[in-house]
Amino acid sequence: MLPIPPTPNVAVLGAGITGLTAAWQLRQSGLAPVVFESSGRSGGAIGSFRQDGWLHELGPNSLLESSPEVGEFITAVGLGDHRQYASPAAANRYIVRHGRPLRMPSSPASFLTTRLFSQRAKLALLGEPFRARGPADRDESVADFVVRRLGREFLDYAVNPFVGGVYAGDPRRLSVRDGFPKLFALEQEHGSLIRGAFARRNTTGGPKGRMFSFAEGLEELPRTLARSLGQALRLNTKVRTIRPHGHFWEIESETAGIIRREIFSSVVCALPADALVGLNFNGVPQPDGLGSLRQIEHPPVASVFTGYRRDDVAHPLDGFGVLVPEIEGARILGTLFSSSMFAGRAPAGHVALTTFVGGTRQPELALLEDDELLRVVQEALTSLLGVKARPAYVHVQRWPRAIPQYTLGYRRHHETVTAFEQSAPGLFIGGNCRDGISLANCIASGRRLAQTARQFAAVTPTPPVAPAA
Ligand SMILES: Cc1cc2nc3c(=O)[nH]c(=O)nc-3n(C[C@H](O)[C@H](O)[C@H](O)COP(=O)(O)OP(=O)(O)OC[C@H]3O[C@@H](n4cnc5c(N)ncnc54)[C@H](O)[C@@H]3O)c2cc1C
Repeated sequence: MLPIPPTPNVAVLGAGITGLTAAWQLRQSGLAPVVFESSGRSGGAIGSFRQDGWLHELGPNSLLESSPEVGEFITAVGLGDHRQYASPAAANRYIVRHGRPLRMPSSPASFLTTRLFSQRAKLALLGEPFRARGPADRDESVADFVVRRLGREFLDYAVNPFVGGVYAGDPRRLSVRDGFPKLFALEQEHGSLIRGAFARRNTTGGPKGRMFSFAEGLEELPRTLARSLGQALRLNTKVRTIRPHGHFWEIESETAGIIRREIFSSVVCALPADALVGLNFNGVPQPDGLGSLRQIEHPPVASVFTGYRRDDVAHPLDGFGVLVPEIEGARILGTLFSSSMFAGRAPAGHVALTTFVGGTRQPELALLEDDELLRVVQEALTSLLGVKARPAYVHVQRWPRAIPQYTLGYRRHHETVTAFEQSAPGLFIGGNCRDGISLANCIASGRRLAQTARQFAAVTPTPPVAPAA
């Protein structure tokens, strides 16, 4: 017989940023989460490593303070003073045109003089506020949306490289409504992106959200959250089966070959789509289940960190990084100037770069052997940034399933998840396959999950006297 918990407890599946945020919030509200993590470390896609004076990130490199919520959360977990904002020296962003990195314009004056866009494209932009609003119920690709509002050249030389940098994705296939909801809302609410951007700036007042990390890298955040959980975080523990148990849920997990079954009042799933679909939801009365989430594409990406002597790189690296439009035909998606963004990423007299390869554009490149991958990166950096010598430090990290692509028709996945939750009271699903891919989205997702589980706990019935075995 499995013991029923005397007070509501919550099983949290996955110790990535979504699950850890949910668990931290649940503890704040007096509930008792237990976090199950199949790997030997917390943080999921977030991983920071320091070695020989270099500090490199395995996955995400920065967190955008895109809403006050993000800042409040970081302060609440005690990391407010540890935040390391991107250096003002990293304000420039470069885009490659005709094989050369050109500065993205950051003011109306620099827009008028930039060589990144032709005079024709600049003039066409003046007509944007007068173009008709698209229908609210149309699922339009990012590419069609941008061409319709801003013109072809803005797609090729602004949005295509940006989408490559954020999603490692293809603007022709991504849905603007589901993949870039803020952009979509700008048109719907204001009839124009330009008018909408000005209106937002006037209402929000302050500057745009700032990028940040921490002195020891982004992993400071999951490490801090994990520490606060103590024994409630179970590493190397994979959840296999979830089955209803009266008004409760039975979780079957495995640690080093040992199977354990426990009862929880509710379950929060903060897993990547493939892991979620791989769970055995035994006895959940949902005819189609979550199987269709298998179709969500996750193209592979390689993140290649290279360190050089400062004198071996000709470019001033006075920016955030350089993005490469697909039309340029290069073999990388872009490179972050990691040591310009944040202090402490490279030893004195050296610089650190992080280059992304693969994505939907060239998935095969992400899976090359290390030597070959490094050759691709070194060739691109030589041509774009004037790298003159082999790197002093290298780390290659491959992500075979990097980022879920919110492609056209993605709404059906949302509907599938919602229908599944409705058939399974007390089971809640979040994470980057549902609530958005950025770390800020995942933090918001974790908070939403915790709040839903808390509300559910408030109406959870008293435990039955004799639970089934
Ligand atoms: C290369 C790369 C670069 C990125 N760059 C940025 C960036 O700069 N800024 C940004 O905002 N975002 C970035 N992102 C996106 C962001 O990092 C992710 O969307 C986010 O970290 C996902 O967090 P998560 O908690 O939802 O999922 P995950 O981090 O995937 O965590 C899920 C956890 O669940 C565990 N798990 C799986 N199956 C089971 C099971 N059966 N039982 C128990 N545990 C299980 C996994 O081991 C994992 O730890 C990047 C992503 C990648 C891959």
